[in-house]
Amino acid sequence: MKAIAVHPGKANSIHLRDIAEPKVTDIPDGRGVLVKVLRVGVDGTDKEINAAEYGAAPPGDDFLVTGHESFGQVVETGANVPTTIRPGTYVVASVRRPGTTIYGQIGLQDFTTDDVYLERGINLLHGYLTEYYVEDFEYVFPLPDNLVEVGVLLEPTTVAEKGINHAYEIQRRLKVWQPRSVCVLGSGTVGLLTALALRLRGLELTVYSLPQKPNRNADLIEQLGGTYVSAQEQTLAEASADRGPFDVIFDATGFSPILWEAAEVLGKNGVLVLASITGGDRKAEINSDRINQGFVLGNKVMVGTVNASPHDFRTGVDDLIKAEALYPGWLKQLLTTPIRGLESYDEMIRALTEDRDAIKVYVEVASNGAGNG
Ligand code: BGC
Ligand code: ZN
Repeated sequence: MKAIAVHPGKANSIHLRDIAEPKVTDIPDGRGVLVKVLRVGVDGTDKEINAAEYGAAPPGDDFLVTGHESFGQVVETGANVPTTIRPGTYVVASVRRPGTTIYGQIGLQDFTTDDVYLERGINLLHGYLTEYYVEDFEYVFPLPDNLVEVGVLLEPTTVAEKGINHAYEIQRRLKVWQPRSVCVLGSGTVGLLTALALRLRGLELTVYSLPQKPNRNADLIEQLGGTYVSAQEQTLAEASADRGPFDVIFDATGFSPILWEAAEVLGKNGVLVLASITGGDRKAEINSDRINQGFVLGNKVMVGTVNASPHDFRTGVDDLIKAEALYPGWLKQLLTTPIRGLESYDEMIRALTEDRDAIKVYVEVASNGAGNG
């Protein structure tokens, strides 16, 4: 079967290749789920993998099948798979697998302290940009049929969910925390999905991002009832004076200097969630005393977040369902850039690297049996 792969460490090595088809029995003890891949989203991580800045091949292979944002339909299940996952069920598989630490043993490999982590389509495990995959049911999450159009957004949604779920988890320290106003930094895919998830929790939403209005991403925020502020029009301190103090600030910009401004304006008892992966070596001059003082006298928290746990996948599914009910058609607008077929990997990389207006680039690998894929 066909697969999109790279030679990790070799820049621009993306190519189409033929790989063996998996079988449900590849996973022992009747725990296997064989899935037909329908759609796979791509993001900055895939771009960095093709640029040879990131990623490793599985032991024994000189290639890595890429793609970690999957959406597919079950074709066959092992005897011990729960009945919530049946042939025909739409599913998304998670990305990270347990390593050597205790976190993996309790299903929280997103908290691994291993230096080398195992991630499908990213590091040491093949990904989903292929026709079929097989996986242990523990890592496969069912979605209701009405998410067929937007289910490919689940994996990036889980990145937002984990950050938000942990902000709430951390704030249990306050016993009576009642967040009111939140600010998302950045209006890319993760920024938009974070904005949605926070709005679904009933919070006043501000999104602070570089592009000026009017632009599609700003429109999407306004459709949620949020306020979009361009960094070209207001500093974050001004936005905070107008709309804050912010109880939560969630950074999804990829521009690390902004987080020090965020730390400075964060409200008392607030949480600053950092979710951008910044591989560079950018430096920033910061108001060190002011930030420290604010954190100390304001009991503030700054927390980093990566990947997602099974709980975050489940709240992610819930939020996609809620979003379709409360903001019908909103999620679909994020699916700006479909790429037809695995053969179009060149076009996929081009859209990913050059199309500045794209929100989500995704490959239509196959259409589903019902013909509505
Ligand atoms: C993925 C995460 C992953 C992270 C680090 C992101 O693009 O969505 O699942 O943990 O990259 O590799
Ligand atoms: Zn990703």
